[in-house]
Parts: sequence; structure tokens; C-alpha cells
Amino acid sequence: MVIDFHTHTFPDSIAEKAVAHLSRVGHTAAFMDAKRDTLVQSMKENHIDISVVLPVATAPTQVSGINALSAKINGRDGVYYAGAVHPDCGNIDETLDFIKANGLFGIKLHPDYQGVHFDDVRYLRIMEAAAKRGLYIITHAGIDIAYRDHVHCTPDMVLHALDALGGIIDNKLILAHMGGYELPDEVLEKLCGKPVLMDTAAVLDLYPEKCAEIIRSHGAKRVLFATDSPWRSQKQFVELLCSLPLKEEEKENILHKNAESILFAN
Ligand SMILES: [Zn+2]
Repeated sequence: MVIDFHTHTFPDSIAEKAVAHLSRVGHTAAFMDAKRDTLVQSMKENHIDISVVLPVATAPTQVSGINALSAKINGRDGVYYAGAVHPDCGNIDETLDFIKANGLFGIKLHPDYQGVHFDDVRYLRIMEAAAKRGLYIITHAGIDIAYRDHVHCTPDMVLHALDALGGIIDNKLILAHMGGYELPDEVLEKLCGKPVLMDTAAVLDLYPEKCAEIIRSHGAKRVLFATDSPWRSQKQFVELLCSLPLKEEEKENILHKNAESILFAN
């Protein structure tokens, strides 16, 4: 069984425009289009049983519409969704209650696209309220290729948030991109061993040896297989993960067991 814990899709009506825009600002080509049907097709071809889609709300007005749609189709064809929130939402409690009541496993934060630092007080309040409801929090971490000169989620900010919340989000926080995109040495130094999870999205192909080093140091029980599709290939990432010098049991944990305990906790 394989679970891809980090993918993106857009509604068919805006998928082409959204991918063209994101490719331009990030100077990256998409591996495939970002339509839901295309993701389901890729899953079938590559024996991925479940994909988790992480929608990002770039304005507070988008939140309720995104969540209503995600709640309606959550789990269909093996595609599960994280809830969307925005730091400037006026109704965080109501939004989180809706996400929880509809069986979504957690929320997605994107400090770069939402214009805040990870340890901003608005994010701290959202994370505290989410964790109290048993929701997971997954955030973009490290450099964002569209905003290279200003990192909004550094390992230091993660440490600060963990500390400021006094254990409330321990083991509920998932850091994308192995703890920090293009910052593997800082992750090794500061985040390995801390009570956070990490996903392999978009970095397994960039520095597989460093990923293996982080996994060994941090522990395979706290790492989730993820691609960042459509920006990366599910086929290539499964092959890469399988080729890492890890024990079979560690690979099983990363490929699906850890994710299962998050998605099907109840
Ligand atoms: Zn992503």
C-alpha cells in the first residue's frame, strides 16, 4: 500500500490557469496538469492507493468554498483533503469545527502564500485551536521557490512555535519538504528528534542522500511519503523512496503506516 501525503489539485475550471501561474512564479514545470481526474489516473498507473490534497487559501474569502467542496468529495477515489484556513479568517473556531465535523484530518498552512511568518501570533492561535480539536497541522517549510529571498518558515520559527505553544501541537505538526525545503543541514542540526512529522515532498529527488540521513536521525515513524504532485512524479518518487538505504520496515512506515494512523485515527 502507498499513500502520497502531499499533492495539489485545482477545480477543472481554473486548473490550467493556476498551474501556468505557479509554474511562472516558481520557474518550475508541472509534471502533469492539476486536475483531480489526472491525479486519480496517475494513482492508478503507479499503484498509489491514497493521495492527500492540500488546498491553500490565499484569501479569507476562499476558505468556506474550498472546505465545502473538500468535505463533499473527501475519500472519493482514494483522494483525501486537508482543510483550508487563512490567518485573516474572522471565524476560525467555526471553520475548524466544520473541518473536524466533516472528518478532514487536519489543516494546511502556507506561510509564503498567506503572507505571515510561521510563528506569527495568528498562526499560533489557529494551531492551538486545531490541535485542541485533534486536527493535524501541515505547513510548507523552508524556502519557497517563488519567494527565495524571504523564508517564512525557518527551523528556528518552528522551534519557537513549538516552544510558545508549550507542547499543544507536539506530534500534530507536519513539516513539508523534510522539515525545510533546501535546508537539509539546518533541519539535521535543529529539528531532527523534535516532536514533529516531516514529509518527503519535492525534495526526495533533489537530495536523496540527505533525506536518508534525516530519516535515520529523525526516525522513520515520523516521516510521510509525499510527492508534491503535479510538481513531481508519483512514479519517480515511489522508485526513489524504495531505493533509499533503509530497512523494509522503515519503508513500510514511511510509505503508508504512519499516514494511515493520521487519516484513520478514529
Ligand atoms: Zn506543495
